[in-house]
Amino acid sequence: MNTILEMARHRLEGRAQKLVVAGCLVERFRDQIRENIPEVDAVVGTGELEQILGAAGVAPPPESNSPFRILSSRREGDARQARGRFSRAGWDGAIADLPSSLYDETTPRVLATPRHMAYIKIAEGCDHPCTFCIIPQLRGKFRSRRLESVVAEAERLARSGVREITLIGQDTTCYGEDLELKDGLALLLERLAQIEDLRWVRFLYAYPNKITGRLLETIVAHDKICSYVDVPLQHASPEVLRRMKRGGGADVFLRTIEKARRTIPDVTLRTSFIVGFPGETEKEFEELCDFVRAARFDWMGTFGYSNQEGAGAYSLDNKVHAKEVELRRKHLMQIQRQISRKRKKALLGKEFDLLLEGASEETDLLLEGRTAMHAPEIDGKVFVNETPDRVEAQAGQFYRCQIVEAHDYDLVARIL
Ligand code: SF4
Repeated sequence: MNTILEMARHRLEGRAQKLVVAGCLVERFRDQIRENIPEVDAVVGTGELEQILGAAGVAPPPESNSPFRILSSRREGDARQARGRFSRAGWDGAIADLPSSLYDETTPRVLATPRHMAYIKIAEGCDHPCTFCIIPQLRGKFRSRRLESVVAEAERLARSGVREITLIGQDTTCYGEDLELKDGLALLLERLAQIEDLRWVRFLYAYPNKITGRLLETIVAHDKICSYVDVPLQHASPEVLRRMKRGGGADVFLRTIEKARRTIPDVTLRTSFIVGFPGETEKEFEELCDFVRAARFDWMGTFGYSNQEGAGAYSLDNKVHAKEVELRRKHLMQIQRQISRKRKKALLGKEFDLLLEGASEETDLLLEGRTAMHAPEIDGKVFVNETPDRVEAQAGQFYRCQIVEAHDYDLVARIL
């Protein structure tokens, strides 16, 4: 909202010609945005991608030449739809249509990331029933892009200079299920690993019970696929996970982690948790803390529970007080800080490939980059404090580096 208000000032003062608000927020607060911010020229929900052209004053292409493709869905999604999972009844200004289309390899695209890296959305929507989440109502049923479409886009990006690709979707491990593909994500990764000009391929947002042996073996079999698994677990107490309608628990998660570490010895593990879910007792929170100590993640994020109208958990009793939620969040991050410090220290003296990203955002005196252990934008940083005279360090290039300092989350390296 603050960003929209900031842009509204530009619109008012004539520095912006049009102000179009697009995306999830529109699905949730369409009428309020229109009523309270008159500077907004148009709102475009997640199911109205094509209307963004009209909103920007550009004639839309004929329907036969749409840049978006209507995609299929899975039986699980259809069944959940029948049970009301995607219903927006009672939402202020929500329109009936859920998004059903997604871009493909022929859709014109402007990269908003640096030239050497790109995200590729391989699927849209989600069929899971997590009770804290309204993404399914915002993004619709899970549906995948065709495998050939993703590969063609990756090849095109590689030709234009992209060296690192990060695959995203609400649940990337479901990829291909609606296309009757078995092990769809593993198959896709195998194909992407064949693209010569790419150096790193990774995927984010795995669903815990979808991390198969085949997927782990595919990661370890290809140098270009980063040994990196991001699996948001949300909690570790079986009781809380049951109320979240996610299933699982500390024991089964630890077995999955152990299997990942056994199959991919240098694997980097990332996860995120929600603390203060309605009814979370001291004991359940302690179970989560014990699990975090045992799992020793490389990267971890913690969010305080946020009560979303329209989510299943909205009507649950025993909400945890906001102050307590924040205390628990800080406590869990404190535990992780110590684990992270130890894990980063263990990297001292080791050598890695580093993708240089340019001058550090924090000081002009240092450069900044990432190793395969660091996903773009979310993980800690690697600062570079030394470059040999003969090397002219360039953003977007790969260099061999050695870790010379380790902090709680960040590393310092020298280029060799
Ligand atoms: S939390 Fe993730 S898996 Fe669960 S419903 Fe939301 S988007 Fe889907």
